[in-house]
Amino acid sequence: SPDIRRHVERLTADGIDVVRVIYPDLIGTDRARDVLVDHLPSACAHGLAFCRAVYHTTPQGDVVPVAGGLDAGLPDVCVRPDLSTLSALPWEPGVATCLGEVTDPATSGPAAESPRDLLRAVLDRCAAQGLRPVVGPELEYFLLEPAPGTSAGWRRAPEVTGAVYTAGLRADPGNHLLRTLRLLRDLGLGVITGNHEFDGGQYEINLTHSEALDAADRAFRFKAAVKELARKEGNLATFMAKPFGDAGGSGFHLHLSCQDEEGDNAFDDPAGAHGLSAAARHAVAGILAHAPALAALANPTVNSYKRFGPDTLAPWLIDWGLDNRSAMVRVPPERGSGARLELRLGDASANPYLLIAGTLAAALLGIQAGEEPPVPLEGYGYDTARSAVLPMDLSAALDALEADAPLAELLGKDFTTSYLTYKRNEVERFQRHVTDWEFTEYAYHL
Ligand code: GLU
Ligand code: MG
Ligand code: MG
Repeated sequence: SPDIRRHVERLTADGIDVVRVIYPDLIGTDRARDVLVDHLPSACAHGLAFCRAVYHTTPQGDVVPVAGGLDAGLPDVCVRPDLSTLSALPWEPGVATCLGEVTDPATSGPAAESPRDLLRAVLDRCAAQGLRPVVGPELEYFLLEPAPGTSAGWRRAPEVTGAVYTAGLRADPGNHLLRTLRLLRDLGLGVITGNHEFDGGQYEINLTHSEALDAADRAFRFKAAVKELARKEGNLATFMAKPFGDAGGSGFHLHLSCQDEEGDNAFDDPAGAHGLSAAARHAVAGILAHAPALAALANPTVNSYKRFGPDTLAPWLIDWGLDNRSAMVRVPPERGSGARLELRLGDASANPYLLIAGTLAAALLGIQAGEEPPVPLEGYGYDTARSAVLPMDLSAALDALEADAPLAELLGKDFTTSYLTYKRNEVERFQRHVTDWEFTEYAYHL
């Protein structure tokens, strides 16, 4: 088509001969293929064939089966480059990147396992309610250096006293943050600020708020880009939830508001309780009510649940509070156009599309039910006499997702079934695994 021809001419004029087409699989892993620009028109016309199944190869070489995967012969999905998302890769001359749309080759329509389409479906339901969600993602991660001879093979930088929430050479002698921030800006990800976090080698970078699908796209590309940049320097950037027992976890906080049909912030109401609109309060009630199921998406690994706990700044209890960082849902102090919720439940390992879709689905169910949240938490937030505890392992969260019929219905039965199958397999593999802890705890004295 003339449109694709124009893109090819433009890319060629800019000295670009390869387009990296990247899409999220069910668990948010960045799947990608490098496409020579000469082949781009054909890739756009026919799509790129990828193995349909979400699959994961364990260290033992097993392919994890999912419905529609191995049992169906690992058929194709068709991935179509979305050229509206093209941008040059600032650190790889001659290469541009764009997102891929996952489609079902049989129907050319959306494929059941496309996280982007799942989010779109939830956004359609929000639109039917007159709401246009606005999301601002904040992601933490650890930058690890090679540690030859250790069992993990990687280590975090040593803790530097007084380096929490700082920038500069004090805790970042290699200037990782400055370099990363600038390159991500040049990639067009809408990054705004970055800082060193609590623990050695832990960083946070914040992305500006925007319409929910765009925010999910940027968060997804952000994670892939940070990992790639770290690799380029021989390091490992990890978004796993709790890589070290003796350090804090990495959160994936979501700032959430909604525009109404006039484009005003539908979460603000100077006359409403706490200066929040009924929609905002009902959204909080929905997120609290569906939190155990939501955890299955926001905290998707067996490791995720080790991040929760008292006195961590990660949540532990299902609660909300006004400008209270110990609460699962924090309402930052701004009102007016800045009125919003900060959901602190998610950890950095979450698939951005599923985290955002699940959060919006829970908020929407709350808005539809019209329920008020309980009295907001004041002061110390980790009091089990006051609030219920989150699921404390992945298995419990998956059971909660399966049992939450309204949420599962909003997310779609195909998705829920595939996701539960995949994740329960992960739980089973973990339960069979004998850990170092067990050996040192029991081997010598029992
Ligand atoms: N690292 C904390 C978490 O896991 C958040 C710390 C912060 O508020 O910056 O959510
Ligand atoms: Mg932080
Ligand atoms: Mg935050």
